[in-house]
Amino acid sequence: MKKILALVLALVLCLGCFAACGGNDADTNDGTEKEVLTMCTNATFPPYEYYDGDKIIGIDAEIAQAIADKLGMELVIEDMEFNSIISYVNANENAFGMAGMTVTEDRKKTVDFTTSYAKGIQSVIVKADSDIKSIDDLAGKKIGVQLSTTGDIYATDDFGADFVTQYNKATDCVLGLTKGDVDAVIIDNAPAQVFVQQNEGLVLLDAAYADEDYAIAVKKGDAELLEKLDTAITELIADGTVAKIVEKYIPSEN
Ligand code: GLN
Repeated sequence: MKKILALVLALVLCLGCFAACGGNDADTNDGTEKEVLTMCTNATFPPYEYYDGDKIIGIDAEIAQAIADKLGMELVIEDMEFNSIISYVNANENAFGMAGMTVTEDRKKTVDFTTSYAKGIQSVIVKADSDIKSIDDLAGKKIGVQLSTTGDIYATDDFGADFVTQYNKATDCVLGLTKGDVDAVIIDNAPAQVFVQQNEGLVLLDAAYADEDYAIAVKKGDAELLEKLDTAITELIADGTVAKIVEKYIPSEN
């Protein structure tokens, strides 16, 4: 009997060691292990990714969870600067960028993108009493953007780097505007709507600065991961899951 007990104990210890040494695996409630899938994001971008207490929620977070569930993987969300997402994705296994990230020709040189799952619009936030009434009025004004975003790229191209202030966080762009450090913020429409709602005295210009497609970024050349994620997101779009998640965070008006 003692021998059997010792054997069982040894087996348990052995299994425990495997679990501890698993590295890329995560323990689950039912005692099985799943491979980790890491979503890299910048959680200052409501309603796509933002903090609710110490939890990151939002459209991207929920779609990512649905993808991980489909693939039988354990989702881990890593919050980082938007500017670091592409290099993190390229340096790590089973990692993808999902951050309201716009597909651009330039980014396509360094990462691969899945099918697009949402549309984005670059919008302009100003103070309610601002003399900026149109995109053309931005010429010569101080423009706040989030570093390395398409807002940053377009504003720098169109108005010149001297007129553009780059912030690490979307929320800091808005703070810069409310403090008067910049005259306008160019940012994606969905977070812009949230920031205008949260900050009295800010308004959105009634003009789109650019139309864009959001997609998931994968390590350049990782055809296997791209195929897995692309199949999953395509299915989630087709069965209405993505639309349902978007509707939950951005209810349609009727
Ligand atoms: N859509 C913009 C981009 O991809 C901004 C994304 C973001 O700030 N999270 O550059």
